[in-house]
Amino acid sequence: MRPVDIADVVTQTSKPRIHRKIRSRYTAKQAEETTKTRRMRACLRCHIQRVRCIPNEENPADPKAPCQTCLRVSQTKKVIHNCPCMRFRLPSIVLYRPGGLNLTCRWEGTQVKNVDSWADSSTLVIDMAQGLCRKPMTIRVRRIRPQAGDVLSRFWVHDGECRAQELPPYALADVHETADQFQKYLKEYAFDLLTESVKDSDEYIRYTYSMVDIHYHSLPDELENAVTGEKIPNREKKLLADMIRFCFSIRHTTGSSWVSGKETLGIEPNLDPSYPLGDKLSLPRMIVAQFDSIMCEIVLKEMCPMLLKHLEEFVFKNNPANWFTIYLVIFMLLHEISVSCRDRYRHARQNSARTRYGTLGRFVEQMQEGANVLLSVWQYYKSVDLMNVDWNNRNNTRLKHLTPQQVLFMQWSIQTLSQRLPTIPQTPEEGCWEHPLYFVSQMFGTWSPLRTYNYMEP
Ligand SMILES: [Zn+2]
Ligand SMILES: [Zn+2]
Repeated sequence: MRPVDIADVVTQTSKPRIHRKIRSRYTAKQAEETTKTRRMRACLRCHIQRVRCIPNEENPADPKAPCQTCLRVSQTKKVIHNCPCMRFRLPSIVLYRPGGLNLTCRWEGTQVKNVDSWADSSTLVIDMAQGLCRKPMTIRVRRIRPQAGDVLSRFWVHDGECRAQELPPYALADVHETADQFQKYLKEYAFDLLTESVKDSDEYIRYTYSMVDIHYHSLPDELENAVTGEKIPNREKKLLADMIRFCFSIRHTTGSSWVSGKETLGIEPNLDPSYPLGDKLSLPRMIVAQFDSIMCEIVLKEMCPMLLKHLEEFVFKNNPANWFTIYLVIFMLLHEISVSCRDRYRHARQNSARTRYGTLGRFVEQMQEGANVLLSVWQYYKSVDLMNVDWNNRNNTRLKHLTPQQVLFMQWSIQTLSQRLPTIPQTPEEGCWEHPLYFVSQMFGTWSPLRTYNYMEP
Protein backbone atom coordinates (compact mmCIF):
# COMPACT_ATOMS: atom_id res chain seq x y z
CA MET A 1 0.00 0.00 0.00
CA ARG A 2 2.62 2.53 1.07
CA PRO A 3 4.77 2.72 -2.09
CA VAL A 4 1.65 3.24 -4.21
CA ASP A 5 0.57 6.07 -1.96
CA ILE A 6 3.95 7.75 -2.36
CA ALA A 7 3.80 7.29 -6.12
CA ASP A 8 0.40 8.94 -6.11
CA VAL A 9 1.80 11.89 -4.21
CA VAL A 10 4.64 12.21 -6.71
CA THR A 11 2.51 12.07 -9.85
CA GLN A 12 -0.59 13.78 -8.55
CA THR A 13 0.02 17.06 -6.88
CA SER A 14 -3.63 17.94 -6.43
CA LYS A 15 -4.42 17.38 -2.74
CA PRO A 16 -8.14 16.54 -3.03
CA ARG A 17 -7.29 13.77 -5.47
CA ILE A 18 -4.78 12.14 -3.09
CA HIS A 19 -7.23 12.46 -0.24
CA ARG A 20 -9.97 10.78 -2.25
CA LYS A 21 -7.73 7.91 -3.34
CA ILE A 22 -6.50 7.11 0.18
CA ARG A 23 -9.96 7.31 1.57
CA SER A 24 -11.45 5.05 -1.04
CA ARG A 25 -8.79 2.42 -0.30
CA TYR A 26 -9.49 2.67 3.41
CA THR A 27 -13.20 2.26 2.79
CA ALA A 28 -12.59 -0.84 0.70
CA LYS A 29 -10.65 -2.37 3.57
CA GLN A 30 -13.34 -1.44 6.03
CA ALA A 31 -15.99 -2.91 3.76
CA GLU A 32 -14.05 -6.15 3.65
CA GLU A 33 -13.84 -6.25 7.44
CA THR A 34 -17.53 -5.57 7.76
CA THR A 35 -18.28 -8.43 5.40
CA LYS A 36 -16.05 -10.71 7.46
CA THR A 37 -17.76 -9.61 10.67
CA ARG A 38 -21.15 -10.24 9.13
CA ARG A 39 -20.04 -13.68 8.11
CA MET A 40 -19.08 -14.34 11.73
CA ARG A 41 -22.18 -14.94 13.74
CA ALA A 42 -23.00 -12.96 16.86
CA CYS A 43 -21.34 -14.55 19.87
CA LEU A 44 -23.33 -16.76 22.22
CA ARG A 45 -23.60 -14.23 25.05
CA CYS A 46 -24.86 -11.43 22.76
CA HIS A 47 -27.23 -13.82 21.00
CA ILE A 48 -28.80 -15.09 24.22
CA GLN A 49 -28.94 -11.63 25.80
CA ARG A 50 -30.26 -10.21 22.51
CA VAL A 51 -27.75 -7.36 22.31
CA ARG A 52 -25.72 -6.25 19.28
CA CYS A 53 -22.45 -8.16 19.05
CA ILE A 54 -19.79 -5.47 18.49
CA PRO A 55 -16.60 -6.97 17.05
CA ASN A 56 -13.28 -6.67 18.82
CA GLU A 57 -11.87 -3.19 18.16
CA GLU A 58 -8.31 -4.31 17.51
CA ASN A 59 -9.09 -7.45 15.50
CA PRO A 60 -12.58 -6.94 14.07
CA ALA A 61 -12.30 -9.75 11.54
CA ASP A 62 -10.85 -12.41 13.82
CA PRO A 63 -13.63 -14.82 14.91
CA LYS A 64 -11.54 -15.82 17.93
CA ALA A 65 -11.08 -12.25 19.23
CA PRO A 66 -13.60 -11.55 22.05
CA CYS A 67 -16.39 -9.13 21.21
CA GLN A 68 -16.73 -5.79 23.02
CA THR A 69 -19.59 -7.01 25.23
CA CYS A 70 -17.64 -10.06 26.43
CA LEU A 71 -14.56 -7.90 27.04
CA ARG A 72 -16.61 -5.53 29.16
CA VAL A 73 -18.16 -8.42 31.15
CA SER A 74 -14.77 -10.04 31.78
CA GLN A 75 -13.62 -6.77 33.34
CA THR A 76 -16.48 -6.56 35.83
CA LYS A 77 -16.38 -8.56 39.05
CA LYS A 78 -20.11 -9.15 39.29
CA VAL A 79 -20.34 -12.22 37.02
CA ILE A 80 -20.56 -15.63 38.66
CA HIS A 81 -18.98 -17.38 35.73
CA ASN A 82 -16.58 -16.05 33.23
CA CYS A 83 -17.35 -17.54 29.84
CA PRO A 84 -15.21 -16.99 26.81
CA CYS A 85 -16.64 -15.24 23.75
CA MET A 86 -17.76 -18.09 21.51
CA ARG A 87 -19.09 -18.01 17.98
CA PHE A 88 -20.25 -21.33 16.63
CA ARG A 89 -23.25 -23.24 15.52
CA LEU A 90 -24.55 -25.78 17.99
CA PRO A 91 -25.96 -27.94 15.13
CA SER A 92 -22.51 -28.48 13.67
CA ILE A 93 -20.91 -30.16 16.69
CA VAL A 94 -19.84 -33.80 16.22
CA LEU A 95 -21.60 -36.38 18.40
CA TYR A 96 -21.38 -39.70 16.60
CA ARG A 97 -18.47 -41.51 15.05
CA PRO A 98 -17.95 -41.64 11.31
CA GLY A 99 -18.76 -45.10 10.00
CA GLY A 100 -16.78 -47.20 7.58
CA LEU A 101 -15.32 -50.29 9.23
CA ASN A 102 -13.29 -51.53 6.24
CA LEU A 103 -14.91 -54.96 6.43
CA THR A 104 -15.49 -55.21 2.67
CA CYS A 105 -14.21 -53.73 -0.59
CA ARG A 106 -17.61 -54.08 -2.31
CA TRP A 107 -18.41 -50.44 -1.69
CA GLU A 108 -16.81 -47.27 -0.37
CA GLY A 109 -17.07 -46.20 3.30
CA THR A 110 -20.63 -46.19 4.61
CA GLN A 111 -22.60 -46.64 1.39
CA VAL A 112 -25.88 -48.43 2.12
CA LYS A 113 -25.77 -51.36 -0.30
CA ASN A 114 -27.01 -54.86 -0.77
CA VAL A 115 -24.61 -57.69 -1.56
CA ASP A 116 -25.24 -59.16 -5.01
CA SER A 117 -23.49 -62.52 -4.88
CA TRP A 118 -25.74 -64.89 -2.93
CA ALA A 119 -24.85 -68.48 -2.11
CA ASP A 120 -28.49 -69.63 -2.32
CA SER A 121 -32.03 -68.30 -2.28
CA SER A 122 -33.09 -69.07 1.30
CA THR A 123 -33.15 -66.46 4.05
CA LEU A 124 -32.91 -66.93 7.82
CA VAL A 125 -34.17 -64.79 10.69
CA ILE A 126 -31.79 -64.07 13.56
CA ASP A 127 -31.92 -62.01 16.76
CA MET A 128 -29.29 -59.32 17.09
CA ALA A 129 -28.64 -57.98 20.63
CA GLN A 130 -26.34 -55.37 22.06
CA GLY A 131 -27.28 -55.25 25.73
CA LEU A 132 -29.09 -51.95 25.30
CA CYS A 133 -32.67 -53.14 25.17
CA ARG A 134 -34.94 -55.79 26.65
CA LYS A 135 -35.79 -56.99 23.17
CA PRO A 136 -33.23 -57.95 20.54
CA MET A 137 -33.74 -56.77 16.99
CA THR A 138 -34.93 -59.38 14.52
CA ILE A 139 -33.23 -59.29 11.14
CA ARG A 140 -33.41 -61.31 7.95
CA VAL A 141 -30.07 -62.58 6.64
CA ARG A 142 -28.87 -64.60 3.67
CA ARG A 143 -25.71 -66.57 2.90
CA ILE A 144 -23.31 -64.90 0.48
CA ARG A 145 -20.56 -66.04 -1.83
CA PRO A 146 -17.51 -64.29 -0.35
CA GLN A 147 -15.26 -62.34 -2.65
CA ALA A 148 -11.78 -60.86 -2.33
CA GLY A 149 -11.77 -57.99 0.17
CA ASP A 150 -14.59 -59.36 2.39
CA VAL A 151 -13.48 -59.76 6.00
CA LEU A 152 -14.88 -63.07 7.30
CA SER A 153 -13.31 -63.31 10.77
CA ARG A 154 -13.57 -61.41 13.99
CA PHE A 155 -10.12 -60.23 15.08
CA TRP A 156 -8.81 -59.14 18.45
CA VAL A 157 -5.38 -58.68 19.99
CA HIS A 158 -4.21 -60.45 23.11
CA ASP A 159 -0.76 -59.85 24.62
CA GLY A 160 0.38 -58.30 21.37
CA GLU A 161 -0.76 -61.33 19.39
CA CYS A 162 -3.56 -61.11 16.82
CA ARG A 163 -6.30 -63.70 17.25
CA ALA A 164 -9.29 -64.51 15.06
CA GLN A 165 -12.52 -66.48 14.84
CA GLU A 166 -13.87 -67.31 11.42
CA LEU A 167 -17.58 -66.64 11.00
CA PRO A 168 -19.99 -67.89 8.32
CA PRO A 169 -20.48 -65.52 5.37
CA TYR A 170 -23.89 -63.92 5.86
CA ALA A 171 -25.22 -60.48 4.91
CA LEU A 172 -28.51 -58.66 5.45
CA ALA A 173 -31.11 -60.09 3.08
CA ASP A 174 -32.24 -56.54 2.33
CA VAL A 175 -30.39 -53.58 3.79
CA HIS A 176 -33.33 -51.16 3.25
CA GLU A 177 -35.74 -53.51 4.98
CA THR A 178 -33.40 -53.60 8.02
CA ALA A 179 -33.12 -49.80 7.95
CA ASP A 180 -36.93 -49.48 8.10
CA GLN A 181 -37.01 -52.05 10.85
CA PHE A 182 -34.49 -50.15 12.93
CA GLN A 183 -36.62 -46.99 12.66
CA LYS A 184 -39.61 -48.96 13.98
CA TYR A 185 -37.48 -50.54 16.69
CA LEU A 186 -36.35 -47.07 17.71
CA LYS A 187 -39.92 -45.84 18.04
CA GLU A 188 -40.90 -48.80 20.12
CA TYR A 189 -37.86 -49.39 22.33
CA ALA A 190 -35.77 -46.19 22.56
CA PHE A 191 -37.02 -45.56 26.09
CA ASP A 192 -35.11 -48.68 27.14
CA LEU A 193 -32.11 -46.36 27.05
CA LEU A 194 -33.39 -44.86 30.29
CA THR A 195 -33.36 -48.17 32.15
CA GLU A 196 -31.81 -51.11 30.31
CA SER A 197 -28.88 -49.27 28.66
CA VAL A 198 -27.78 -47.71 31.96
CA LYS A 199 -28.50 -50.66 34.26
CA ASP A 200 -24.79 -51.08 35.06
CA SER A 201 -24.10 -47.36 35.44
CA ASP A 202 -23.52 -45.30 38.57
CA GLU A 203 -26.67 -44.71 40.63
CA TYR A 204 -26.33 -41.01 39.87
CA ILE A 205 -26.67 -41.66 36.12
CA ARG A 206 -29.45 -44.23 36.59
CA TYR A 207 -31.52 -41.91 38.72
CA THR A 208 -31.06 -38.98 36.33
CA TYR A 209 -32.09 -41.14 33.35
CA SER A 210 -35.16 -42.36 35.20
CA MET A 211 -35.99 -38.73 35.92
CA VAL A 212 -35.93 -38.11 32.15
CA ASP A 213 -38.63 -40.77 31.84
CA ILE A 214 -40.71 -39.26 34.65
CA HIS A 215 -40.33 -35.74 33.29
CA TYR A 216 -41.20 -36.81 29.75
CA HIS A 217 -44.43 -38.43 30.90
CA SER A 218 -45.33 -35.40 33.01
CA LEU A 219 -45.29 -33.06 30.01
CA PRO A 220 -48.55 -32.61 28.09
CA ASP A 221 -48.63 -33.87 24.49
CA GLU A 222 -50.22 -30.67 23.27
CA LEU A 223 -50.32 -27.05 24.30
CA GLU A 224 -53.08 -24.55 23.70
CA ASN A 225 -52.35 -21.41 21.74
CA ALA A 226 -53.21 -18.56 24.14
CA VAL A 227 -54.79 -16.42 21.40
CA THR A 228 -56.55 -18.82 19.04
CA GLY A 229 -57.18 -21.67 21.48
CA GLU A 230 -55.79 -24.02 18.85
CA LYS A 231 -54.02 -27.19 20.06
CA ILE A 232 -50.38 -27.44 19.02
CA PRO A 233 -47.87 -30.27 19.61
CA ASN A 234 -45.64 -29.68 22.64
CA ARG A 235 -42.18 -29.11 21.17
CA GLU A 236 -40.52 -29.42 24.56
CA LYS A 237 -41.82 -32.97 24.84
CA LYS A 238 -40.69 -33.69 21.29
CA LEU A 239 -37.19 -32.39 22.11
CA LEU A 240 -36.92 -34.91 24.95
CA ALA A 241 -38.26 -37.78 22.86
CA ASP A 242 -35.87 -36.98 20.00
CA MET A 243 -33.01 -36.81 22.48
CA ILE A 244 -33.82 -40.24 23.87
CA ARG A 245 -34.02 -41.76 20.35
CA PHE A 246 -30.76 -40.08 19.39
CA CYS A 247 -28.88 -41.30 22.47
CA PHE A 248 -30.30 -44.80 22.01
CA SER A 249 -29.06 -44.72 18.40
CA ILE A 250 -25.53 -43.56 19.20
CA ARG A 251 -25.28 -46.34 21.76
CA HIS A 252 -25.77 -48.69 18.83
CA THR A 253 -22.51 -47.38 17.33
CA THR A 254 -20.56 -48.34 20.47
CA GLY A 255 -19.69 -51.75 21.90
CA SER A 256 -20.43 -54.97 19.99
CA SER A 257 -23.58 -56.75 18.97
CA TRP A 258 -24.09 -60.50 18.96
CA VAL A 259 -26.39 -63.27 17.72
CA SER A 260 -28.76 -63.96 20.59
CA GLY A 261 -31.65 -66.18 19.50
CA LYS A 262 -32.14 -69.86 18.68
CA GLU A 263 -30.94 -69.47 15.10
CA THR A 264 -27.15 -69.21 15.40
CA LEU A 265 -26.15 -69.65 11.73
CA GLY A 266 -23.91 -72.52 12.87
CA ILE A 267 -21.60 -70.22 14.85
CA GLU A 268 -19.89 -72.05 17.71
CA PRO A 269 -19.18 -70.41 21.10
CA ASN A 270 -15.60 -69.19 21.35
CA LEU A 271 -13.73 -70.90 24.16
CA ASP A 272 -10.60 -68.73 24.03
CA PRO A 273 -10.53 -66.88 27.41
CA SER A 274 -9.17 -63.76 25.68
CA TYR A 275 -12.14 -63.58 23.27
CA PRO A 276 -13.71 -60.16 24.05
CA LEU A 277 -17.39 -61.23 23.92
CA GLY A 278 -17.29 -64.04 26.51
CA ASP A 279 -20.07 -66.57 25.84
CA LYS A 280 -21.75 -64.44 23.14
CA LEU A 281 -21.66 -65.27 19.45
CA SER A 282 -20.10 -62.68 17.14
CA LEU A 283 -22.17 -61.44 14.22
CA PRO A 284 -20.96 -62.22 10.70
CA ARG A 285 -18.86 -59.25 9.64
CA MET A 286 -20.85 -58.22 6.55
CA ILE A 287 -23.92 -57.72 8.75
CA VAL A 288 -21.85 -55.55 11.10
CA ALA A 289 -20.63 -53.46 8.14
CA GLN A 290 -24.12 -53.00 6.68
CA PHE A 291 -25.70 -52.14 10.02
CA ASP A 292 -22.97 -49.56 10.61
CA SER A 293 -23.78 -47.93 7.25
CA ILE A 294 -27.48 -47.82 8.14
CA MET A 295 -26.74 -46.11 11.45
CA CYS A 296 -24.47 -43.49 9.93
CA GLU A 297 -26.13 -42.76 6.61
CA ILE A 298 -29.80 -43.25 7.35
CA VAL A 299 -30.33 -42.76 11.07
CA LEU A 300 -27.76 -40.41 12.61
CA LYS A 301 -26.91 -38.17 9.68
CA GLU A 302 -30.46 -36.89 9.62
CA MET A 303 -31.24 -37.07 13.32
CA CYS A 304 -28.21 -35.32 14.81
CA PRO A 305 -28.33 -31.84 13.16
CA MET A 306 -32.12 -31.74 13.48
CA LEU A 307 -31.96 -32.43 17.18
CA LEU A 308 -29.19 -29.90 17.83
CA LYS A 309 -31.06 -27.23 15.88
CA HIS A 310 -34.10 -27.92 17.99
CA LEU A 311 -32.01 -27.63 21.18
CA GLU A 312 -30.43 -24.39 19.93
CA GLU A 313 -33.87 -22.97 19.29
CA PHE A 314 -34.84 -23.68 22.92
CA VAL A 315 -31.62 -22.20 24.30
CA PHE A 316 -32.02 -19.03 22.23
CA LYS A 317 -35.60 -18.66 23.43
CA ASN A 318 -33.99 -18.39 26.86
CA ASN A 319 -37.23 -19.24 28.64
CA PRO A 320 -36.64 -20.25 32.28
CA ALA A 321 -39.76 -22.44 32.11
CA ASN A 322 -37.72 -24.92 29.99
CA TRP A 323 -34.86 -25.04 32.51
CA PHE A 324 -35.37 -28.60 33.73
CA THR A 325 -35.79 -30.04 30.22
CA ILE A 326 -32.64 -28.31 28.98
CA TYR A 327 -30.74 -29.50 32.06
CA LEU A 328 -31.70 -33.11 31.32
CA VAL A 329 -30.95 -32.85 27.60
CA ILE A 330 -27.46 -31.40 28.13
CA PHE A 331 -26.80 -33.91 30.92
CA MET A 332 -27.65 -36.83 28.64
CA LEU A 333 -25.58 -35.57 25.73
CA LEU A 334 -22.56 -34.99 27.97
CA HIS A 335 -22.87 -38.40 29.56
CA GLU A 336 -23.17 -40.07 26.16
CA ILE A 337 -19.96 -38.27 25.11
CA SER A 338 -18.19 -39.93 28.08
CA VAL A 339 -19.62 -43.30 27.04
CA SER A 340 -18.30 -42.80 23.49
CA CYS A 341 -14.84 -41.72 24.70
CA ARG A 342 -14.65 -44.78 26.93
CA ASP A 343 -15.79 -47.05 24.11
CA ARG A 344 -13.19 -45.63 21.71
CA TYR A 345 -10.53 -46.06 24.42
CA ARG A 346 -11.57 -49.70 24.93
CA HIS A 347 -11.59 -50.33 21.18
CA ALA A 348 -8.13 -48.80 20.78
CA ARG A 349 -6.76 -51.02 23.59
CA GLN A 350 -8.39 -54.18 22.16
CA ASN A 351 -6.74 -53.46 18.85
CA SER A 352 -3.36 -52.54 20.37
CA ALA A 353 -3.51 -49.00 18.99
CA ARG A 354 -0.49 -46.87 19.76
CA THR A 355 -2.57 -43.75 20.42
CA ARG A 356 -5.26 -43.14 23.05
CA TYR A 357 -8.22 -43.46 20.67
CA GLY A 358 -6.64 -45.33 17.74
CA THR A 359 -7.88 -44.53 14.26
CA LEU A 360 -10.77 -42.38 15.56
CA GLY A 361 -8.62 -39.83 17.38
CA ARG A 362 -9.82 -36.94 15.27
CA PHE A 363 -13.46 -37.88 15.92
CA VAL A 364 -12.89 -38.01 19.70
CA GLU A 365 -11.14 -34.64 19.55
CA GLN A 366 -14.11 -33.09 17.73
CA MET A 367 -16.61 -34.73 20.06
CA GLN A 368 -14.83 -33.35 23.14
CA GLU A 369 -14.79 -29.89 21.53
CA GLY A 370 -18.54 -30.43 21.19
CA ALA A 371 -18.71 -31.10 24.94
CA ASN A 372 -17.13 -27.68 25.50
CA VAL A 373 -19.73 -26.09 23.23
CA LEU A 374 -22.59 -27.80 25.08
CA LEU A 375 -21.12 -26.72 28.41
CA SER A 376 -20.73 -23.11 27.35
CA VAL A 377 -24.32 -23.07 26.05
CA TRP A 378 -25.44 -24.46 29.39
CA GLN A 379 -23.30 -21.98 31.27
CA TYR A 380 -25.08 -19.05 29.67
CA TYR A 381 -28.52 -20.58 29.85
CA LYS A 382 -28.50 -21.90 33.46
CA SER A 383 -27.59 -18.47 34.94
CA VAL A 384 -27.08 -19.87 38.42
CA ASP A 385 -24.16 -21.41 40.31
CA LEU A 386 -25.67 -24.77 41.23
CA MET A 387 -23.07 -25.46 43.89
CA ASN A 388 -24.22 -22.38 45.81
CA VAL A 389 -27.99 -22.15 45.47
CA ASP A 390 -30.01 -20.41 48.13
CA TRP A 391 -33.06 -22.67 47.81
CA ASN A 392 -35.18 -20.45 50.05
CA ASN A 393 -34.69 -17.68 47.57
CA ARG A 394 -35.14 -19.73 44.40
CA ASN A 395 -38.23 -17.81 43.30
CA ASN A 396 -35.93 -14.91 42.50
CA THR A 397 -33.73 -17.07 40.27
CA ARG A 398 -33.99 -19.09 37.06
CA LEU A 399 -35.04 -22.07 39.19
CA LYS A 400 -38.42 -20.59 40.02
CA HIS A 401 -40.31 -22.84 37.57
CA LEU A 402 -39.08 -26.13 39.08
CA THR A 403 -41.76 -28.30 40.67
CA PRO A 404 -41.23 -29.44 44.30
CA GLN A 405 -40.26 -32.89 42.98
CA GLN A 406 -37.71 -31.34 40.61
CA VAL A 407 -36.30 -29.23 43.45
CA LEU A 408 -35.77 -32.38 45.53
CA PHE A 409 -34.18 -34.08 42.56
CA MET A 410 -31.79 -31.17 41.92
CA GLN A 411 -30.85 -31.03 45.61
CA TRP A 412 -30.18 -34.76 45.59
CA SER A 413 -28.11 -34.40 42.38
CA ILE A 414 -25.98 -31.59 43.78
CA GLN A 415 -25.39 -33.47 47.01
CA THR A 416 -24.56 -36.73 45.24
CA LEU A 417 -22.23 -35.00 42.82
CA SER A 418 -20.42 -33.29 45.72
CA GLN A 419 -19.83 -36.73 47.23
CA ARG A 420 -18.57 -38.13 43.91
CA LEU A 421 -16.32 -35.16 43.04
CA PRO A 422 -13.19 -36.38 44.89
CA THR A 423 -13.36 -39.64 42.91
CA ILE A 424 -13.72 -38.05 39.46
CA PRO A 425 -10.34 -37.77 37.73
CA GLN A 426 -9.45 -34.27 36.60
CA THR A 427 -6.60 -34.87 34.16
CA PRO A 428 -6.27 -36.94 30.98
CA GLU A 429 -3.37 -38.79 32.62
CA GLU A 430 -5.81 -40.05 35.28
CA GLY A 431 -8.43 -40.87 32.62
CA CYS A 432 -10.85 -37.96 33.03
CA TRP A 433 -12.32 -38.09 29.51
CA GLU A 434 -13.39 -41.71 29.88
CA HIS A 435 -14.94 -41.23 33.32
CA PRO A 436 -18.78 -41.37 33.15
CA LEU A 437 -19.20 -38.32 35.42
CA TYR A 438 -16.41 -36.06 34.18
CA PHE A 439 -18.30 -34.01 31.58
CA VAL A 440 -21.61 -33.88 33.49
CA SER A 441 -19.82 -32.78 36.67
CA GLN A 442 -18.84 -29.58 34.83
CA MET A 443 -22.49 -28.49 34.63
CA PHE A 444 -22.74 -27.42 38.24
CA GLY A 445 -20.23 -24.89 39.50
CA THR A 446 -18.08 -22.26 37.86
CA TRP A 447 -16.66 -23.41 34.59
CA SER A 448 -13.99 -22.65 32.04
CA PRO A 449 -13.40 -24.53 28.76
CA LEU A 450 -11.94 -27.97 29.34
CA ARG A 451 -8.70 -29.30 27.95
CA THR A 452 -9.64 -31.63 25.11
CA TYR A 453 -7.80 -34.44 23.40
CA ASN A 454 -5.46 -33.42 20.61
CA TYR A 455 -5.06 -36.21 18.10
CA MET A 456 -1.81 -34.70 16.83
CA GLU A 457 -0.23 -35.22 20.26
CA PRO A 458 -1.27 -38.67 21.45
ZN1 LIG B 1 -20.85 -10.63 21.33
ZN1 LIG C 1 -18.84 -12.20 22.88
